[in-house]
Amino acid sequence: MRITEILKSEKPTVSFEVFPPKTSDSFSAVEKAVDEIAAMNPSYMSVTYGAGGGTSQYTLDIAREISEKYGVPSLAHLTCVSSSRESVKSRIEDFKAAGIENVLALRGDIPADRMNEDRSGWDYHHAIELISDLKESGADFCIGGACYPEVHPESANRKEDIMHLKEKTDVGCEFLTTQMFFDNSLFYAFLYRIREAGISVPVIPGIMPITNANQVARAIKLSGSFMPQRFSSIVDRFGSSPDAMMQAGIAYATDQIIDLFANNINHIHIYSMNKPQVAEAIMRNISEIIK
Ligand code: FAD
Repeated sequence: MRITEILKSEKPTVSFEVFPPKTSDSFSAVEKAVDEIAAMNPSYMSVTYGAGGGTSQYTLDIAREISEKYGVPSLAHLTCVSSSRESVKSRIEDFKAAGIENVLALRGDIPADRMNEDRSGWDYHHAIELISDLKESGADFCIGGACYPEVHPESANRKEDIMHLKEKTDVGCEFLTTQMFFDNSLFYAFLYRIREAGISVPVIPGIMPITNANQVARAIKLSGSFMPQRFSSIVDRFGSSPDAMMQAGIAYATDQIIDLFANNINHIHIYSMNKPQVAEAIMRNISEIIK
């Protein structure tokens, strides 16, 4: 089922993200997590794409398994920036052959060791080029993209970031998933700004439950997200006690989700990070709300 069809639902929907294993040794552990998350019957599940594409076959295998084995629609991520056009085209052909319907088209992060390279000769520079390749592939993919309520870290300013986002939706990106954020007012302001800029596609807020203190620095470095005082107090107070931090992190994410639903944002994506216990706890906390 196309993600855009799911997003037409007036009932609240919840989707989860999983990531593929880095090596074949951990494939069965990931499969088990996928199995348990799929059993919660989310509206769809997304599968990330390893930076550089080294684990791309796993993304495809897991995305296919989610829809074929569990009957849950899947969304396969695909990145382009550190790949050749030839390899991306062949990956798109693999997606077509496997019957992948939904693709989250991403640029990918510039690898740290290639940051200072002259990129003019690279095959890809921005996600928009991948979206065009997907559109030209002859398959009727439902294509999504990423967006950044707190501005992409490489953007010169908010105006430019939104202008490029509009270009992405103009070439065929049909829905957007946000980078994580910990202050919902930033998301509401972003939504207002992009609607004003003429971007009308559905935007799904991505919520990251922070359930251990080590995750905090990594998540903030990756996303550049603002950490509200209320959340830093939780980390300061409970960060050294794993069970308490898990409970407080789930409660904080639940609070964000309930506030979003209360403000008529009907579709939520949860960065569940292959943690069924986190997904399950959040689903339990909102069970009456999403009925
Ligand atoms: P783009 O849309 O290309 O934007 C990147 C930057 O370039 C922005 O500053 C933008 O304003 C600017 N820009 C865009 N178009 C143009 C243009 N035409 N000219 C000039 N500037 C332009 N990474 C992975 O490796 N694997 C994943 O599975 C993955 N999943 C993600 C899922 C979500 C929901 C999000 C939010 C991010 C994900 N990422 C993933 C990280 C993502 O790859 C990085 O954030 C990356 O730096 C940007 O990707 P993008 O698709 O947003 O890029």
